Amino acid sequence: MLNALGYDSVDALLRTAVPASIHVAPRDTSDIPPAATEAEALAELRALASQNRTARPMIGLGYYDTFTPSVIARNVLENPSWYTAYTPYQPEISQGRLEALINFQTMVTDLTGLATANASMLDEATAVVEGMLVARRASKSASNTFLVDADTLPQTKALLEHRAAALGIELHFTPFDMSPPPVDIDVFGAFVQYPGASGRVWDFSEVAEAVHAAGGLVVVAADLLALTLLRSPASLGADVAVGTTQRFGVPLGFGGPHAGYMAVRAGLERQLPGRLVGVSQDASGHPAYRLSLQTREQHIRREKATSNICTAQVLLAVMASMYAVYHGPAGLRQIATDVARKAEALAERLRSYDLRLASDAFFDTLRVSVPGSAARVVERARARGYQLHLVDEATVGVSVDETTTADDLAAVAWAFGLPEGEFVGGGEQGERAVPFADATALAGVPEALLRRDAYLQHPVFNTHRSETAMMRYLKTLADRDYALDRGMIPLGSCTMKLNAATEMAAVSWPEFSRVHPFAPEADVRGYLAMIEQLEVWLAEVTGYDAVSLQPNAGSQGELAGLLAIRGYHLANGDVERTVCLIPSSAHGTNAASAVLAGMSVVVVACDEAGNVDLDDLRAKVAAHADRLAALMITYPSTHGVYEQDVLDITQAVHDAGGQVYVDGANLNALLGYARFGDLGGDVSHLNLHKTFAIPHGGGGPGVGPVAAKAHLAPYLPSHPLAQRADHAGGVFEGGPISAAPYGSASILPISWAYVRMMGAEGLRAATAAAVLSANYIAARLSEHYPVLYAGESGLVAHECILDLRPLREETGVTVDDVAKRLIDYGFHAPTMSFPVAGTLMIEPTESEDLGEIERFIEAMIAIKAEALAVAAGQWPADDNPLVNAPHTAQAVVVGEWQHPYSREVAVYPVPAQVRSKYWPPVRRIDNAWGDRNLVCACPPVEAFA
Ligand SMILES: *Cc1c(COP(=O)(O)O)cnc(C)c1O
Repeated sequence: MLNALGYDSVDALLRTAVPASIHVAPRDTSDIPPAATEAEALAELRALASQNRTARPMIGLGYYDTFTPSVIARNVLENPSWYTAYTPYQPEISQGRLEALINFQTMVTDLTGLATANASMLDEATAVVEGMLVARRASKSASNTFLVDADTLPQTKALLEHRAAALGIELHFTPFDMSPPPVDIDVFGAFVQYPGASGRVWDFSEVAEAVHAAGGLVVVAADLLALTLLRSPASLGADVAVGTTQRFGVPLGFGGPHAGYMAVRAGLERQLPGRLVGVSQDASGHPAYRLSLQTREQHIRREKATSNICTAQVLLAVMASMYAVYHGPAGLRQIATDVARKAEALAERLRSYDLRLASDAFFDTLRVSVPGSAARVVERARARGYQLHLVDEATVGVSVDETTTADDLAAVAWAFGLPEGEFVGGGEQGERAVPFADATALAGVPEALLRRDAYLQHPVFNTHRSETAMMRYLKTLADRDYALDRGMIPLGSCTMKLNAATEMAAVSWPEFSRVHPFAPEADVRGYLAMIEQLEVWLAEVTGYDAVSLQPNAGSQGELAGLLAIRGYHLANGDVERTVCLIPSSAHGTNAASAVLAGMSVVVVACDEAGNVDLDDLRAKVAAHADRLAALMITYPSTHGVYEQDVLDITQAVHDAGGQVYVDGANLNALLGYARFGDLGGDVSHLNLHKTFAIPHGGGGPGVGPVAAKAHLAPYLPSHPLAQRADHAGGVFEGGPISAAPYGSASILPISWAYVRMMGAEGLRAATAAAVLSANYIAARLSEHYPVLYAGESGLVAHECILDLRPLREETGVTVDDVAKRLIDYGFHAPTMSFPVAGTLMIEPTESEDLGEIERFIEAMIAIKAEALAVAAGQWPADDNPLVNAPHTAQAVVVGEWQHPYSREVAVYPVPAQVRSKYWPPVRRIDNAWGDRNLVCACPPVEAFA
């Protein structure tokens, strides 16, 4: 590869590619220890894991222990066919995960009673904020006030406060049980927690009526398991329902990752944030899934998008949906009944010893009044291995879940000072579920709130009832998809590198997976030690002083970083500094995040070489100098080049009093060679699900740490229930950005293991290999497709953009045709039309060997030849292997073959495919049809007949 490029070492190549002014020499002293072997890294992780205490978490507050069915753990969570897939932007090769996600949406709409659900939010607390923003967009009220249930989870309250403050929204906390809102209130919406944080189950329909009368919308956070027994939010007047699906078989993981959810009533679907899966049809008219209404999303609407969400929680949404598929409606109702019975039994026992409960209506959570001795009760429980919730000095909270046993209940009763009598009846598995018609069946649930309507009636929730059937369903879906376990996914900007098995191992260990996010510090020392090490390592490689691992995705890291900048300006009295400069080439999340941080976006032009136009930047800095908050710049740029002028750019912004946000998603081009902190960056986010080996999971989870210089550290995310406020880089005091103190903590061992096994030298070598591969592809393909941008050295960074617009002019073949034809050749298409329309952006990463890279290059060259054959008239423009791609087995087998090219050309363009063909399950999908005929729930089985 070096020979082809004319360099004699990778270091020489990198010295030429990376501008000398930003190049850092390898460091003599490093916080990053020398590379460990796989065995050594696992042993160290075992030692860290052993410092976590696997207590029985009964804290509740939105997090519950759960049994992950083994068939789901093994075949989804631990299966690369599911965890290494990408976001389903190429729907023809994503039908399996799209079906799993439409099952998820159907599950959520059925249980909430609302019309349309999206394919996952990042967590419950952020989903509540997004719900508030839906209400603000959709409400006819001019009010700026949002009513909030006083009985809301503490983390949700803190998140609402932080995010509302940035947007100038006023929050009114109201104890709805004591004072329902007056009829003449002036609000754009209200939020209700159902059941309440205290466990209280109540009928909020009067609140909903009052809010509707004021022209506002009602947002309800509802527990999905409770909804199998309780009346749906829709039936009580909710316009929007949000929550978490964690307790549907997704491990606690010290706070995440878990899938949040959002559902809306009819008429609000265009206001939904995030991804929405829908049904359309393929070229043969067969039903096919794809992402719907993408024009709401940040990658198209930018600062006008409904949210900044990009990476979501797909893998966890798949797990939760499969939990519902496996258990079915009767099974879920059985689990919920068992939970409610256990809570009932405990309540009865406590009351019989004259202990008072805050509410006699509950599902799974009790608030017990123990004036003066709450701390003692919690301590006694802890000594026996149980974590309870210390509400205040007079109150203890206890939550039961599907894993709670009769022995657990006895131990908890003992902690309250009761004799440890046996629990029989309550909590016994196998008791008959509460039938739909039985109104007096549950002592804790008021009769009027018992659910009587059916849900999850679609066959998918009533078919796969044995482990054999479930295993086969999961395999059938996985076989429809193309993930990294089939071949390279050369998606520019997305860094689809290897997610090594050793890196993944610790995610499943109970010491990491069965840990509650609000467990006491003494029980999570292993987690905190690992987190601190990772913070220190990431600070070193980026040249920053402080790192927060709380953000659940790159977009959330951006928001946290921009809010830190805003906090800093406000502390300096710079109230007016709200303008955020963003180059036109930036990722869509940048603009959307700036708006959510309360900033206004001013776009900076790019020059012909793809760099930030320095003159335009200087002009815009001058024009907005007094109001300049920040510049958001991606380095290397989203055009895949190392900009020479980056130091001049950051200097110009600093001179005008602005802060520099460097989008660090492209760190795979820099790690070990340059550091954002040295480029003049004040704050950055990284994407651990790109550079640091966390898998993409079909569109999530992710971790988007925010890293900053010391002056911004005080404004980085804190959390009201964090075990510690101090971090390696200082004390963080900004508002929270995620529901859990350390965000998606349970996947941090992946990045920890990656760094630990690479060492500083390995990280540098990976960067070099990634840059070498990208340049090799650019060099090999440039005579067939022009490479759009290169740096002054003529080299690209870790990705390259091929311009397919000339091909279209010459042959009529579009970038879409090429992307879909690549499926016939056995590839996932590169990033299409981002950041420039009509182009393909290719990022091979360091993980692909030369054989796979050559296979890709040869496919691209062969496709060029096919396009030229169309131009030469060998095949008609409207009937050739490119416009008809991808070809399914059915398309070449059924009926007479009437195309001007052979069936072999259609499906075996390369002879090696005869033995190793990936068969797409559908032909090209009609996107516009799906948006015109919006269906976002499981279609009837007959549709596939
Ligand atoms: C991937 C990416 C983001 C967004 O990250 P998510 O984790 O998907 O939210 C932002 N900026 C750039 C340049 C990216 O490539």
